Amino acid sequence: MRVIGTAGHVDHGKSTLVAALTGINPDRLKEEQLRQMTIELGFAWLTLPNGEEVGIVDVPGHRDFIENMLAGVGGIDAALLVIAADEGVMPQTREHLAILDLLQIKGGVVTLTKIDMIDDPDWLDLVELDVRAVLNGTVLQDAPVMRVSARTGEGLPALTAALSEVLADQPQRADLGRPRLPIDRVFTIAGFGTVVTGTLSDGVLKIGDEIEILPAGRSGRIRGLQSHKRKEQSAVPGSRTAANISGIAVDEVRRGDVLTHPGQYRNTHRLDLQLRLLPDVSAPLHHFSEVKLFIAASEVLARVRLLGVEELAAGETGWIQVETQQPVVAVRGDRYILRRPSPGETLGGGVVIDPFPPRRHKRFDAQVIERLEAIRKGTPADVLYQASLAVGAASIRELVTHARLSPADAQTALRELIQNRQFNLLKSAEASLESEQWVMPASLWNSHTQKVINEVTAYHKNYPLRLGMPRQELASRLKLQPRLFNLAVAQWRREGIVVEKGGLIASPDHRVRFDPRQQATIEQMRKRFSEAPYAPPSIKDLQSELGEEVVAALIEQGELVAVSSEVAFQKQIYQQLVEEVTEHLRTHQTLTAAQFRDRYQTSRRYALALLEHLDAIGLTVRQGDEHRLRE
Ligand code: GDP
Repeated sequence: MRVIGTAGHVDHGKSTLVAALTGINPDRLKEEQLRQMTIELGFAWLTLPNGEEVGIVDVPGHRDFIENMLAGVGGIDAALLVIAADEGVMPQTREHLAILDLLQIKGGVVTLTKIDMIDDPDWLDLVELDVRAVLNGTVLQDAPVMRVSARTGEGLPALTAALSEVLADQPQRADLGRPRLPIDRVFTIAGFGTVVTGTLSDGVLKIGDEIEILPAGRSGRIRGLQSHKRKEQSAVPGSRTAANISGIAVDEVRRGDVLTHPGQYRNTHRLDLQLRLLPDVSAPLHHFSEVKLFIAASEVLARVRLLGVEELAAGETGWIQVETQQPVVAVRGDRYILRRPSPGETLGGGVVIDPFPPRRHKRFDAQVIERLEAIRKGTPADVLYQASLAVGAASIRELVTHARLSPADAQTALRELIQNRQFNLLKSAEASLESEQWVMPASLWNSHTQKVINEVTAYHKNYPLRLGMPRQELASRLKLQPRLFNLAVAQWRREGIVVEKGGLIASPDHRVRFDPRQQATIEQMRKRFSEAPYAPPSIKDLQSELGEEVVAALIEQGELVAVSSEVAFQKQIYQQLVEEVTEHLRTHQTLTAAQFRDRYQTSRRYALALLEHLDAIGLTVRQGDEHRLRE
């Protein structure tokens, strides 16, 4: 699941555009609709042409509400930067763009909107040139620029298509087994109690889960879940999630709190950060400045300890340690923004290097800086895991090559990731070398497994009388490359997810059951077969009496053996015929259809069908009218 966030100057048409794209007016508050201005975050969702549902967070564009904007853009997969064609780039266009850049929101589409107000196409070209210049050097420098009018609808389909394309390039959010929901809204619903919303990351939440709200550490339980106003049993990473929680009162939760499983995250009040100061800040950053730290949906006051330098000038990157007034929840690699409290100004931002530094660092200590640089680069396990997310399933050799790790580092990292169950190892009997074994991120494996379960279950539902799904059909549905498919099926069989018999893949608990009416017709059919074992009813007759599915099931289960498209014998009769024909040929060398017909007092049709079948399976060969055993 994905989430898009809007960005752009106030009044440039963000909310109108979201409403035009989704049919949902994202401005929730009466006051906002009266003043025609977004103050709080708004939410909507959009169904892409490929059927994927994407959440949209609509943020305020007014300078005074930039901090509300910051609570909304954490965790988004792509930005929709909206610029009104009549006004072009304005101050909050730049500020929002800078924030997207600091947060490294890689996906994005830029929209020149309100084009219905512009008659002169040259003007649009000029505005677009200006926009391109501003995007240059930022995360959005290669983003498509789309021209639309929310009023006339012009360009909206192309915009949706551009969003689809950009999202398709973004990796799905990983399931690391430790969900966290940074809370961006808290409210109550009469009769249900407390509801919190946010963009879920790092794991799955389920109804009934015990949860904890940090930093306060209150515990509760998930009573209900919704995504895009639909009830769900579970919520997946990357989705807009509303959780109804019991055991916690509405005034015990605030925006910026984090909902997690108990014990999986810890509060911190001291963090080591890498900081990039924006090029246009009004003054350099000094040691011990007071700042506001925005991380996920939270906002706290903090003091900056500037490491390794006397001051940090505009546009420079450096290391800082911050100590926050209230505890926060953060993980290495999280992105953050710093602002000056007053007068309000976005200073810069960057990435969390260490959320639990052991002590207050000395300001000028080469070892401290070295350590921060080493962590910034990531442990071999991180590097390997990230590589695996990028390549998907691959042999260990390929993966290690891709990650550019030394063999020793790769070994340790691999063991760690397999032990922590972040990697799934696909055991292969053929691969004697460890490097030829395949691994994939556990999250990816789980999603393939879920797909297989869904496919096989759906197949059983559609064809209850069939033993299972042909292996080939499953392969083409899963769209896995053949080697991976074979390894995966072997693993699913070992894990008891599926069983396989004669090239048919089934759920372990699937049983073919005929209904009473079918049972009765099958009984009659058996009687007719025993009355004329060598000249039984034709397959066509059977199909019109029993139905095609039932006949196919009887053949699949082996009760009947089809020797041609028209003729089937009961299994024991078929076996008897094969034995007796073989025996006859051993002693008499040849057999003709006429001889067969006379011996079994049947017709030529049955004789030909069986003998041709024996040729076809390679037991016999035909010369003229005579069939002989194959050498
Ligand atoms: P936001 O502050 O960026 O969310 O901007 P709004 O969506 O509230 O739009 C600001 C104003 O621009 C409103 O009066 C809208 O009716 C108007 N507007 C928005 N989109 C268009 C458009 O495509 N064409 C025209 N002519 N007006 C628009």
